Amino acid sequence: MHEISDFRSDTVTRPTPEMREAMARAPLGDDVLGDDPTVNELEAETAALLGKEAGLFVPSGTMGNQIALALHTQPGQEVICEFGAHTYNNESGALARIAGAQVRPVHGKLGVMEPGEVERMVRPSNIHNPRTAVITVENTHNAAGGTIVPIENIRALAATARKHGLKYHMDGARLWNAHVATGVALKDWCAPFDTISVCLSKGLCAPVGSVVAGSRADMERGRYLRKQLGGGMRQAGLLAACGLVGIRSLIPRLQQDHVNARKLAQGLARLPGVQLDLSSVQTNIVYFAVPGREAQFDEWMKRLEQQRVKALYLGNRWRLVTHHDVDEEDVQRALAAWAQILG
Ligand SMILES: *Cc1c(COP(=O)(O)O)cnc(C)c1O
Repeated sequence: MHEISDFRSDTVTRPTPEMREAMARAPLGDDVLGDDPTVNELEAETAALLGKEAGLFVPSGTMGNQIALALHTQPGQEVICEFGAHTYNNESGALARIAGAQVRPVHGKLGVMEPGEVERMVRPSNIHNPRTAVITVENTHNAAGGTIVPIENIRALAATARKHGLKYHMDGARLWNAHVATGVALKDWCAPFDTISVCLSKGLCAPVGSVVAGSRADMERGRYLRKQLGGGMRQAGLLAACGLVGIRSLIPRLQQDHVNARKLAQGLARLPGVQLDLSSVQTNIVYFAVPGREAQFDEWMKRLEQQRVKALYLGNRWRLVTHHDVDEEDVQRALAAWAQILG
């Protein structure tokens, strides 16, 4: 059990002791000049892990996605993505601001878009329509519950993208979780995509950073965009060193987060008034609502904090995320706190 059982997000993890040591030892250079050896190592190693030619270390998942989408679009073009996608809803309007692209959202089931529906959303080419440029998949899908987009679906959407000459991007902030939960190799998940963005600062405990991976040519253009956005960092090897520890040693343990999330969800689902779709709990995220009692969220938040439990309230539902820095006892503490609140 931890001093505070913080379930708000898997971003609240602190760098591990191994990461602190790796930071102290990391050889450094000026990454804007291209000679930070630790950043270069992280970029190459992540790209190899994902089966792509090259990688680009960026300060956030948002920057990773937005660079990729800017690479794939011209202003005024369209991005097809799922209705609840992070790139569309949670990146502060960056798509409109940076790429100047607009969104063609598709309502999925548990974050999974039906390929026929996606194909119907591809614009016919004529003078009236925006041009469809890219299909984006989020895996795992955050807002749908950390749900996994099945590999068959990813391949079917790839065929649609190819057929219509579209680019194909994966927001793989939590691709690690999909990999561990299914056993599908990272390279297999990534093979159909032009670009993938993965987060090092969520389940993998790094303090900062994401990597975009793709072709060498795209990553070189991406490096230019990163500099334009102010994302060129100097001795960034300090941060990259943590990312290397994450990708080398912390991926398999995500399985424990999935076990903990399952226990948490099963316990919560038994409490009076709780509406929770257990089929959406496939990895490390648990959403639930208590319909009709939304007005009490403020009071409940205080009561949770008195019990040293933190959770996020997102307007109409609660979110709890498991990660490296919450264990089974933290899960029990959260369940006891919620039982007291709802009992
Ligand atoms: C967290 C997250 C991102 C990136 O978030 P940053 O806070 O910018 O690192 C992108 N996509 C999804 C699905 C996420 O959950």
